Amino acid sequence: MSDQDHNGQLYIETVGCQMNMLDSELVVAALRKDGYELTDSPKQADTVLFNTCSVREHAEHKIYSALGRLKYAKRNKPQKVIGVMGCMAQKDQDLIFSRAPHVDLVVGTGQLAEIPRLIRETRDSDSRMQQKAVSLGRRDGSVLEITGSFQSYDPLRDPEMRPTPFQAFVRIMIGCDKFCTYCVVPSTRGPEQSRPPSQIAQEIRVLADQGVKEITLLGQTVNSYQHTENGRLYRLADLLELIHETEGIERIRFVTSYPKDMTDDLLQAVRDLPKVLRYLHVPLQHGCNEVLKKMKRGYTVEDYREMMQRIKATIPDCSVSSDFIVGFCGETEEAHQLTMDAVREFRFKNSFIFKYSERTGTKAEQRFPDDIEDSIKRRRNNEMLNLQNSISEEDNAEFIGQQVSVLVEGPSKSAVKQAARDTEPVAGKSLAAQLMGRSECDRIVVFNGNPRLAGTTAQIQVDDCTGTTLIGSILTHEVQHGSCDVLPILS
Ligand code: SAM
Ligand code: SF4
Repeated sequence: MSDQDHNGQLYIETVGCQMNMLDSELVVAALRKDGYELTDSPKQADTVLFNTCSVREHAEHKIYSALGRLKYAKRNKPQKVIGVMGCMAQKDQDLIFSRAPHVDLVVGTGQLAEIPRLIRETRDSDSRMQQKAVSLGRRDGSVLEITGSFQSYDPLRDPEMRPTPFQAFVRIMIGCDKFCTYCVVPSTRGPEQSRPPSQIAQEIRVLADQGVKEITLLGQTVNSYQHTENGRLYRLADLLELIHETEGIERIRFVTSYPKDMTDDLLQAVRDLPKVLRYLHVPLQHGCNEVLKKMKRGYTVEDYREMMQRIKATIPDCSVSSDFIVGFCGETEEAHQLTMDAVREFRFKNSFIFKYSERTGTKAEQRFPDDIEDSIKRRRNNEMLNLQNSISEEDNAEFIGQQVSVLVEGPSKSAVKQAARDTEPVAGKSLAAQLMGRSECDRIVVFNGNPRLAGTTAQIQVDDCTGTTLIGSILTHEVQHGSCDVLPILS
């Protein structure tokens, strides 16, 4: 690359969901093609991007604080380009310029392809210019116009940008049309649009050629996927069958599922396609029918129970995880206890538990007061976390003495921290580190082994557990292309 091609240093900070992680990966890959290099210093960077989340207020506060910290850096280096992209950009738009006037770019979720051009124009302009690229609001045009203003951003992938070389996210749909009353996603990510199956299959083939073994299909309500191509209607079960054929891909998971769209054909596909993991993330959100109705989730606890019974009957070894919101408008102590009862009954593998955060522009904000005190929300959140944790620990204990098949991801979080503390390598020190991976039912498993095992499949004997982790030792591991061998002791 010539000096001319060198566009300086890029810093990017990503908050929020897996969809945001994928968006950042793709934007960084496009900018690297334009000659940018990544840095971890926002102060020194020539371009700073924040990929943002609006689901809860806390996530937005974090970004406004980070922007505030850059005010003087921009004053000292006016040519620094600062951009806000993603959900908050689509939601707040000009408000971002008024709260942080040193921001140059505001780019919504449906306009990410524009980022390289917008940065170039900002940099090349003689006078300071602020640029905004956002999609239409959900009432600002015809369905066609609104849908067209949210572009799915899935350019060719740069293998170096993935968190690990053998795992990748693949977006199969964008947007959401469920309009749960508390949620900003239908306006920040626009109408639900499924990508053509042939395009998805092609993307997965390229990823497999690049060495990817595990793919995670992404969608806000991923099991609502449907697309008609060449006269044939593809739903998620059909798509799974299609991509299951891809040579090199060993594991497929999909998140997040919507309870009402958990059809029998999908459950049968999970049961019958060996590469599809025995894991479903299907948020219940609340255990009280009155609250579910106020949330406009479209199902009752009884409907959810019926779905869980079908899951257990079709895929007995399937694990299920959930999301919950505590302290939603008017939530009584009785209603909260019903949610606790639901956690006891359904024994989720794990649950993501959130305190309700009122979001401007949502139906809940317009219709119901956010009347549960924060101290009560916090207490209910802790009660839920403690209950879920004790259930997870009991269920994890059932695995002690069993073998699980794990795709080794690399050093565990604690091994990474330890490595950061050990600045000097000690001569003769064991090469074995604590590694982590996930089982076929998505449980986190840690064990000692050689870091070179990353990307291979290992059989782990489970010896112990916590509420979040199975702790084990390696029995066998894949030597090459799926064959298994007894592992020599790694030291
Ligand atoms: N589409 C997914 C679904 O419906 O299950 C979830 C998408 S949302 C980004 C992730 C989770 O955030 C939701 O499942 C919900 O529990 C939580 N969430 C959404 N809006 C929220 C709000 N206003 N306050 C607190 N939590 C919220
Ligand atoms: Fe939000 Fe509901 Fe859509 Fe999930 S299904 S993204 S919670 S509106």
